[in-house]
Parts: sequence; structure tokens; C-alpha cells
Amino acid sequence: MVPCRPTVVDAPASAPAPISDLEARLRTLPKVELHQHVDGSIPPEVTWELMRHYRLNPVDTLDEMRRHLEIQDGEEGTLLAYLDKMYYPLWVTQFYENVSRVVEAIVDAAARAGVVTLELRYSPIIHTYAGLTPRQSIRAALSGMNHAKKRHPHMKLGLVVIAMRQHGPHIAKILARQALAEAQHLHERTGVVGFDIAGPERGNPPRLFRSAYEIARLGRLRLTAHAGEDAPAEYVWQAVDELGVDRVGHGCAAAGDKELLRRLARDRILVECCLSSNYHTGAVAKGARHPLHAFLEAGVAVALCCDNSTVSRTDAVKEAVLAAEQVGVEAVEGAHRTADAFTFIRPETSLPARGED
Ligand SMILES: [Zn+2]
Repeated sequence: MVPCRPTVVDAPASAPAPISDLEARLRTLPKVELHQHVDGSIPPEVTWELMRHYRLNPVDTLDEMRRHLEIQDGEEGTLLAYLDKMYYPLWVTQFYENVSRVVEAIVDAAARAGVVTLELRYSPIIHTYAGLTPRQSIRAALSGMNHAKKRHPHMKLGLVVIAMRQHGPHIAKILARQALAEAQHLHERTGVVGFDIAGPERGNPPRLFRSAYEIARLGRLRLTAHAGEDAPAEYVWQAVDELGVDRVGHGCAAAGDKELLRRLARDRILVECCLSSNYHTGAVAKGARHPLHAFLEAGVAVALCCDNSTVSRTDAVKEAVLAAEQVGVEAVEGAHRTADAFTFIRPETSLPARGED
């Protein structure tokens, strides 16, 4: 597979803004990314190249493609507009090599932003429309990480498998089994390190997925769940009490529940905060203080994450700057140190490479 070399087609209209001291400091900070989705993070150039390769060409230019892949002014604040941005990449990520290639490109981009530990989230089932099995779909993503690892040997990489809520608890159980078959501790190289549920929250409460989480736990996967992004604090309580999660994705609704905040702090359950994404989806109103403040004030561990770097036109540096502007640079540096202690990636649990032991 030829490594992705994005072609620069459009020169910026004006010179880039000078890098601030804050940005320079945060660029060199070793960053830990615990919540980033494959589908919303594929560099637009790569989606564009694949579209052209297959002569799919839904639009005429890369610029137009970008408008379909990245959130635009006026589209912010609605979850539906946000989720629509994941639509085109699925046209081309139905084949093993393409899944591998886009994952490789995402790892390269994260490395450029100074990410040293990267957990990518991946929904295997939505990459099976052309006949891949869920297991092959997972292997394709892992293959991309393994290719990228050759160029970034210092990086810690791992995959978190997502079951989509709207596909129901039964499919989630099947995916939990497929995920644990590719668990890090059963393989020599990059493996699956965690299990997650994502997709429309309301009407699909965490408790429905209890059996799937039990399967994942028995298979020694670590657990997280999207909860409290577009649903009340009750969903976060369920993720904690009934699914036994180690971490919570977004968890915005928890900020208004003091008892829940105490629980998250007491049990050392980390909240994966995604600032840009939360403003873009409307989980947090534009201009409002981010729940990050409430988490830090309550002593809840937080990580700062991109969620979907392409849709939100962000990266680990921009997220760090955005957070630093709200809570200060020391808190951001502290969050990345904390996140390092909460990563599900444990390379030492992998099987030793053949010939080494
Ligand atoms: Zn997410």
C-alpha cells in the first residue's frame, strides 16, 4: 500500500496566522488522544483521492468536497448537520485496503500534531456493506495502524470498537465478541483495547447494552461509552452503574449533577471531553462555558479529545489551545498527563513478537 501523501491543491488565500506562544508550547506537549473517530477524521484530501480513483466524483473540486466533510458556518449547533458529514467517506471505506489507508493517514496527521498515544474509535459494522465481515473490517483498521507504526515507532496505538446504538443490543453483543477476538493481549501487534457504544442516545439507553459490555469485560477489553452528549445525566449514571465503564465519552450532562460529579471523581472515571465537537453539535451552546470547568472543579479526571478532526476542522493542538483559553495552559498539560494514566493501550500485554521470546 502506498502511504498517503495528500496532494496540496488549493493554496491558502492569505498567509497563515503567526503561531502564538501558547500554540507553540502546546504543539510540543506530548499529547494523549483517547476519543477520535475514524469516519469523521479522514483527511479530506484522502477521501477526495479515493473518490476520484473510483470515479465517484459527487462534486467537482476538493474545495467542494471539503464543504461536505467539514462543518460550515451556519451548520453549527445541530447534531444532524454534524452527523451528515460522515456520509461521503462511507462510499470509499468499504474495502480492506481503503480502510487501512485512511487509518494510516489519520495516524500520520495525529503524529504531526504531537500525539504520542492514540486510541482510534471505529464502528466495524458500517464498513461491511461491500462484503467485509465485521472481523475483517476490524483487521483492516488494525492493518492501517500497524503500517503507520513503522513510521511512528514511538507512538502507542490502539483501537476502540464501537457498537452503534441504533443497531440494537444483539448486534452489540456480536461486535463485542468480534472485538475481543482481536484484543491486544491476544496478538503481537496493535490490537483492540476497548469497547464503546455510540450513535443516537435518546431511546437507546446504556442499560440495553449491558450484556455486550459483560462480554467485552470478560474478554478483558476496557470500557467506555458515549453518554450524556445528547441525553440527560441519567444516561451517564447508567453507563457507570450498569455498564461499569472506566471512562465516559462527552458526559456533558453530568456537569449539572453534583452527586454524579462526586461519583466520577471518587471512582476515578475519566470524562473524554471534546470541546469543538460539543459546540458544533449543540451539546454545549455556543459561547457557553464548557462542562470541562465543572469537571475540573469537582476533581474529575478529564482528557481533551478531537472526536472528529475533519468534521470539526481541528487537531490535538487546536483542541489544546481552545481548552487552554478556557481553563489555562497548566490545566491542559495536566489533563494530558492524566489521560496517559487512563489510556486503554497496554503494549506490554501484547504477545511477544515471534523470535523474541
Ligand atoms: Zn465520539
